[in-house]
Amino acid sequence: MSLTASVMCQCLDAIVVPTKFEPYLHINDDGFLCIQLPVAGNEKCHNQFEAWIAHACEHEDMCLKQEPVASEADLQRFQHLLQDADPALFPTLLRETQCAHKALTPATAAKQMLSELGVFDRTVHSRLKTVLWNSETAISLWEYIPEYGSEMQSSSIDALSLGVDAQGFFIQSDTGVEQFRSQRFTQTLGDDPSAVDAQVVYTDDASGQCFECHTAITGKRIRWPNGAWQNDAGQIRFEYPVHLHTESKPQAAEDLTYITDALKVICLAAVETGNPIRWQLNCALT
Ligand SMILES: [Zn+2]
Repeated sequence: MSLTASVMCQCLDAIVVPTKFEPYLHINDDGFLCIQLPVAGNEKCHNQFEAWIAHACEHEDMCLKQEPVASEADLQRFQHLLQDADPALFPTLLRETQCAHKALTPATAAKQMLSELGVFDRTVHSRLKTVLWNSETAISLWEYIPEYGSEMQSSSIDALSLGVDAQGFFIQSDTGVEQFRSQRFTQTLGDDPSAVDAQVVYTDDASGQCFECHTAITGKRIRWPNGAWQNDAGQIRFEYPVHLHTESKPQAAEDLTYITDALKVICLAAVETGNPIRWQLNCALT
């Protein structure tokens, strides 16, 4: 499923409508020009109308703009992105771009959508996030978004904080002194990594600089050798990634830009003509 949007052109007032269509000319609830005549018994007239409207003006089917907006899956990702950022900033976009939304979007709402798309570009889309990855599994572990602060792991044993910021991974003492910083590093643990006082050595891949402490970065939860999620003592078990790296990239997925680009074209056409946006759900992206 995909969503397509279109805006009718403004040529209707300027073109000569054949007299046989004129008494029946009508814009239906979906925003399309049609003739209000039952199809049964008027098949020929309907066919003639279809042929006429296809070339009635310089715009095919009197359509000023038509854009495939998004696949259903991408549209849901886009909606989540807006929700996560701040739904109060994007009320019109959230309402009007729902896949289930079938009503027309008036030009006034299209103007509001353009304004919200501008906010999206200036905030969400240009916002960088830094992610700490398990380099071997390509699973993300921690995420840093400037507005929400560093994601950190504190250790009372070491009086240390571990975290990620825009410059990468860092370890700092509780007094705020930086002990270790790296964008690509290894984590080496002793024989019993789950022990409270297990030794951990962090080594920066580029410089070879090391830092020793007792606070490890945990990965995903794993089962005990007998297949259970907890042992008899009720303890849970985690994997400890060996190779890790950080990466900064725009918070909004680049591959969703086609959605905002299409929406801008369509909204602009609606604002310029004063005509509403027509939404159509298709079985495949055209
Ligand atoms: Zn036209």
